[in-house]
Amino acid sequence: MDFKALGIPKAQWVEGNILRGNKLAQEIRKIIKEKISSASQKPGLAVILVGENPASVIYVNQKEKAAREVGFHSQVLRLPSNTTENDILSLIQELNDNPLIHAILVQLPLPPHLHEEKILQSILPQKDVDGFHYENVGKLYAKNPTARIPCTPLGIFVMLSLLEIPLVGLHAVVLGRSRIVGKPMAQLLLDYCNTTVTMCHSKTKHLDKIISSADILVSAMGQQDVVKSNWVKEGAIIIDVGIHRKEGKLEGDLNFEELCPKASYITPVPGGVGPMTIAMLLWNTLQNFHELYGL
Ligand code: NDP
Repeated sequence: MDFKALGIPKAQWVEGNILRGNKLAQEIRKIIKEKISSASQKPGLAVILVGENPASVIYVNQKEKAAREVGFHSQVLRLPSNTTENDILSLIQELNDNPLIHAILVQLPLPPHLHEEKILQSILPQKDVDGFHYENVGKLYAKNPTARIPCTPLGIFVMLSLLEIPLVGLHAVVLGRSRIVGKPMAQLLLDYCNTTVTMCHSKTKHLDKIISSADILVSAMGQQDVVKSNWVKEGAIIIDVGIHRKEGKLEGDLNFEELCPKASYITPVPGGVGPMTIAMLLWNTLQNFHELYGL
């Protein structure tokens, strides 16, 4: 996982101490576009959206647009919220067998009548693009380089790698233990950055003390006003994954205005982690394509 080889200089995406994920994502998308420009076959991404959850509709539209822009074959299957589990499983089977599709993403959350786990595990591990298939989860924990890694933590890892600063031995604190962000993030920080990791969740005691010793703080709680800015150590690297829609504006978990002056680096919301998540979706699709066809 040598993302430094991408050769994207900090000057193109780091402004002062602000990590402009949107600018880095743009550079990565350019690289992906170039890589496939002369390929006879294009990587294919299929996204399944069940129902009309407003946030999911926005995310799926963004993914479709990004995939088209880099020249991928993009297919979005928009299904009514009362679609049966068997219908989705049959659809995934068809996509598993479809040689034009190399990556399958099921947009979460699914309506409550659908068995999320059963559906996610029915995707071929080679076509899994979110890193949810148990084979990919196991590979990540075994430090196998062929693991597909969930896009958000992978995007954060890319940012940390391209910063080219020594992380070895630092104390990283991850707030949140979801399988989409918190857990894989902690694993990447542990195994690929050699940091000492503390994972926190809603039952964690003494959050203030833990946070005050963090050299790297990743907040993926989906909760605002939990972390007080004065808990955060001067010079910490601060990564805000949270997304909150407030009066038509996006905000993170943390108070950017208060934290920016004390951080060595910080991600804004919007324009930080979010665009990197989409860039990594394209990246993972390209990796699946390479591995399935050796192209
Ligand atoms: P989940 O709800 O699945 O997980 C949230 C985690 O935060 C849980 O582990 C929960 O603990 C923990 N948590 C909640 N409250 C506290 C608290 N007071 N103190 C410490 N820990 C707490 O959310 P996701 O991981 O899916 O997403 C997290 C946030 O990131 C959301 O805002 C989401 O919108 C955003 N997101 C952003 C992405 C991007 O691309 N920028 C991509 C994915 C998510 P417990 O396990 O005990 O309940």
